[in-house]
Amino acid sequence: MLEAKLVSKADSNHRSTVRLAEGVVIGGNDVVVIGGPCTVESEEQMEQVAGKLSSASIHALRGGVYKPRTSPYSFQGMGLDGLKILAAVRDRYRLPIVTEVMAIAQIEPVAAHADMLQVGSRNMQNFELLKALGMVKKPVLLKRGLSATIEEFVMAAEYIMAHGNPNVVLCERGIRSFDPYTRNVLDLGAVVALRQITHLPVIVDPSHATGKRELIPDLARAAIACGADGLIIECHPIPEQSVSDARQALSLEDMVELVQSLEPVAAAIGRRLDKQVEELAAVA
Ligand code: PEP
Ligand code: MN
Repeated sequence: MLEAKLVSKADSNHRSTVRLAEGVVIGGNDVVVIGGPCTVESEEQMEQVAGKLSSASIHALRGGVYKPRTSPYSFQGMGLDGLKILAAVRDRYRLPIVTEVMAIAQIEPVAAHADMLQVGSRNMQNFELLKALGMVKKPVLLKRGLSATIEEFVMAAEYIMAHGNPNVVLCERGIRSFDPYTRNVLDLGAVVALRQITHLPVIVDPSHATGKRELIPDLARAAIACGADGLIIECHPIPEQSVSDARQALSLEDMVELVQSLEPVAAAIGRRLDKQVEELAAVA
């Protein structure tokens, strides 16, 4: 792999972990699930999401406040007001927050409220943004570019690490192909390959990979079965009313049911979903 120094494995057992918050570590033995809406829409919406998900084995909340929309006329996100909502639910439900940064100027305000900064697919090769994220210590969730090769993906992670931030998690979110039946094609082969080539944690986003809610549960289970360190999945209190990505949003009930169905799959490969929560309870 082209000059990939920092992301490459030193030996076959070399794996790194990325800590989002107390008890929430990606890349260890436990599978981590991140859930929430595509877009933060209101305080009420995020309260409903956090209230429901905090009772299940869901370790972190997602929700975009700076949204990369295909059309400039589509809703662009709540910005700072949305960040305040995320900060409030984070404190109230003690769930770490993952949200996207699209520009260098957004890093500082987002880092003040979020536990993990997402680089969206459309910015995977925004090298100035990657360099700037290398200079903060917050965990970064790097999503694979729409048509990025595995090598390009790995080198984007190398940018962040080369600038000083070792806390990088890779996210396979589907790649463009010829068939419009699904939004993208989930490349589970890449998940296996990335875990062989790099020591970084790898998670899967079956929501953007498929664009269709009915395909998500089976692919989520397949992702865990093939070694993914976690999942990021979109869900909404009223899926059809989501302001963005409505067709792929799961209901909160379906999200909880899906997470429960992951437990035997994780157990079959010697991993768990709920261990960290139990460990925290044991300490308390
Ligand atoms: C998202 O997570 O809502 C998103 C826009 O994802 P991606 O960058 O993978 O399209
Ligand atoms: Mn989305």
